[in-house]
Amino acid sequence: MHLLNADLHSHSSVSDGTLSPEALAARAHAQGVQLWALTDHDELGGQHRARAAAHALGLAVLHGVEISVTFAGETVHIVGLGVDPDDDALLQGLAATRGGREQRARAMAAGLAAVGIPGAFEGALRYVGNPDLISRTHFARFLVDSGVCPDTHSVFRRYLTEGHPGFVPHRWARLGDAVRWITGAGGVAVIAHPARYRFSPTAEYALFTEFIAHGGRGVEVMTGSHSHAEQLRYADTALEFGLLASRGSDFHAPGESRTELGALPDLPGRLQPVWEALAHRIQHPPAAPALTGPA
Ligand code: AMP
Ligand code: MN
Ligand code: MN
Ligand code: MN
Repeated sequence: MHLLNADLHSHSSVSDGTLSPEALAARAHAQGVQLWALTDHDELGGQHRARAAAHALGLAVLHGVEISVTFAGETVHIVGLGVDPDDDALLQGLAATRGGREQRARAMAAGLAAVGIPGAFEGALRYVGNPDLISRTHFARFLVDSGVCPDTHSVFRRYLTEGHPGFVPHRWARLGDAVRWITGAGGVAVIAHPARYRFSPTAEYALFTEFIAHGGRGVEVMTGSHSHAEQLRYADTALEFGLLASRGSDFHAPGESRTELGALPDLPGRLQPVWEALAHRIQHPPAAPALTGPA
């Protein structure tokens, strides 16, 4: 059976996590993860480091990425698992997706300055590990550490979501493009944390059907973003649409993330785990050297 501790969604300092790919690999291993994917936002720059560090610990990996998409006016995240991290079309698509982030961040800072919070662009930049990938998370950490809010969730609630002063609408990749970049790179596309989107039932149905029409094959059922009721609901959705099921903590930072690496419940047994369909894409650690050598 699939009682494998797979954690197929996590972030390093190459996007908006705080740990290096090496430190994240070590933490995943220490938490009992047996199959790990680093899925930085719109970026594959940590993949080779993550694999090397994981393999040194005997930990198997799937290469991964989490692509920001705009669908029906909402931001949707599509995780790609088992991708080739050196695929040209995927790399180009991700570079284009990252492209507007700096300008957006400057506009966010202007919105915050207008409500009496100056210097947020420079402040957020101090938390950024990859200058190409300044995100709302970095603003949130700056606003917590400078005493504006007690925790990152309240920063998002008060400043960084729609209708609040630091929110700037942004156009990300198209759904079909993201799915094709992933499948073209040998991977499987997975809808990340579906319960997080504020879609009507009609719009959610459109997301799933269009995603499948473009070649998408999976959905996250077990994620740090889902309540128990949402886990059950999206288990049913996976069956209804014939989708593979994924499991991933969405870990970003010690003390900040709600769910620890490797700590989610197993997938319900009636679902087909996405990693079984990706067996041929798993990067296994090199075999341990034989104990008996030449005499
Ligand atoms: P961005 O790609 O710059 O729009 O930033 C999105 C990131 O912000 C997500 O990947 C999460 O890491 C983080 N995020 C979004 N909403 C929240 C929230 N309500 N609380 C904490 N972090 C959030
Ligand atoms: Mn994030
Ligand atoms: Mn996400
Ligand atoms: Mn994520």
